[in-house]
Order: sequence, then C-alpha cells, then structure tokens
Amino acid sequence: MKLVSRSQWGARAYRTPNGATPYSRPRRGVKFHYLGTAYSDRSHDKCDDYVRQIQAQHMDGNGWSDIGYSFVVCTHGYVYEGRGLKRRNSANGNTSLNEQDYAVLLMVGSTGLTKPTDAQLHGARDALEYCRTQGPAGMWIGGHRDGYATACPGDAVYAWVKAGAPRPAASPTPPKTTTPEENDVAFTKDDLETLAGTDGVFKAPKDAADYSADPKSPKHYWAFGSHVNDNTTRIRRIDKTTAALTAQVAALAAAVAALARDGGLPLAQVQAAAEAGAKAALEQLGDTLTKES
Ligand SMILES: [Zn+2]
Ligand SMILES: [Zn+2]
Repeated sequence: MKLVSRSQWGARAYRTPNGATPYSRPRRGVKFHYLGTAYSDRSHDKCDDYVRQIQAQHMDGNGWSDIGYSFVVCTHGYVYEGRGLKRRNSANGNTSLNEQDYAVLLMVGSTGLTKPTDAQLHGARDALEYCRTQGPAGMWIGGHRDGYATACPGDAVYAWVKAGAPRPAASPTPPKTTTPEENDVAFTKDDLETLAGTDGVFKAPKDAADYSADPKSPKHYWAFGSHVNDNTTRIRRIDKTTAALTAQVAALAAAVAALARDGGLPLAQVQAAAEAGAKAALEQLGDTLTKES
C-alpha cells in the first residue's frame, strides 16, 4: 500500500479534545465516499494540496476537529491517512454511523472526473484491507448512501463497492497475431474434436487401405502416429508431382523456344505440340497421384 502519513502530506494537527476521539472497538466494515463536487484529474504533486484543502474545509468550513475521512485515495493510488485507524471518523452522517464503519474517500467528483482509475481502485482496496487487518473492521462494505440519504459515493464507485470492491483485472493481453502460413497449419479445437473419436483416437481417412465404415471396427480409427505417417506420404506425393510438373513445363518452354528460333512452322503445329506436352504432363500427374509411394 502506498500510504502517505499525516506528516508526509502536511496535515494540520486535529483540534483537541474532540478531534482525537479514540475509538478502538472493532467496526462493522468500511464505507466509501466521493467528493460530490466537480473534480478534474491532476498530476500527483498536486494531490496533497487537495487533501489539505479538504481538511481546511472540514475544520474551518464545517467546524470539525479534523478532516472527516479515515483515509483518502487519490487517482494515482496513494492512500492518505486522514483520521486513520483507532479514531472515530466524522464522514458517515452521525455519531453512530461514524462509529459503525471506517470512512474511505475516493477523490472523484460528481462532475468532471467521475470514474475511479484502476490505480485508485487498487488504492481503495489497499485501504479496505488495511482497515480490515489493522482496524479491525469486519467484512461489511458499502457506500455513504447505505443507511443515509445521499448520492455519495456516486454511481461509479457504488457499483464497484456492490461488486465486492474487486481489484481491477490486469489489462487483457492482445490476441496473438498469426501469419497466413501459421493459420494454414494450425488445428483449431473444433478440427481436433472432429478428427478425434470419443476415446481420443483419430478417425481413419476414408481412403485408407484398411478403412472400415463400421464405427465399432478398430479399423474405423487410427492412432495419432498413423495420421502423421499418412500425412507424410501425402506430402511426399505432392513433392513428386511438383517435380514432375516442373520438368514438363521446362520441356514445353524449351520446345516453344526452339520453334520461335527456327521459325517457319504453322501456328496449328505449335498449338498441337503445346497440347501434346500439356497432355503428357497431365498423364504424368495422374500416374504420380495414383502410385502409392
Ligand atoms: Zn460521503
Ligand atoms: Zn495522486
């Protein structure tokens, strides 16, 4: 917890005797507050000015003996010690409410900056846990408006309180970007579930030599290794086909080049030669695909 003690933020001494009202009995819990005025965010070096201003308003304006809150949390997550632990606050509305729960202020306004920052929510949670362990305060949490007629602590802070005052989730990691190549080879969960049988083995390819259409037959399924072997065989076949086609294209290119160089051949003859070459290439392709490697 980033605790800022009274001396660190330059607090005025509380008025005695009432300002020091010690109150060491366990509290029911913690009540949260907001400023209820316009507020704009500022750099952290201005935050202690603002806390001193709140104290001056409570002491000189309201005539209280000290700042009213037990703790004050700035938007940067620092927790300023107000009346602190073991002393009764004066922010919850009346003496019995002030004795019942600690009072923690989040420095957000009713206009301007109205939503607490993530750092501030962490700070407010720190203050809550500090009150619980050191107060001691019980597990109850609420807003100033619980049991008292006020809009405090505003809807944003109140919604957070009603959700159990959770720490904000860490910012989500951006989804992994994949290259098209990665997308081509990646199996999705759905793919695997489609392939896998209920007992975790893979369905055999329908063109496998020993494939059985009967789901009860062991030949309906393959082990994972068989799938790998099958895919390796297919890839080798595609490699051979590619090599054969490359050779055919080279032969055709040579033939066309020779015709162009020597000249004198009719167009029909060039076309016939090209067609014959393409036909041979297709036959070669068919042979390669039919052969088991
Ligand atoms: Zn309040
Ligand atoms: Zn600050």
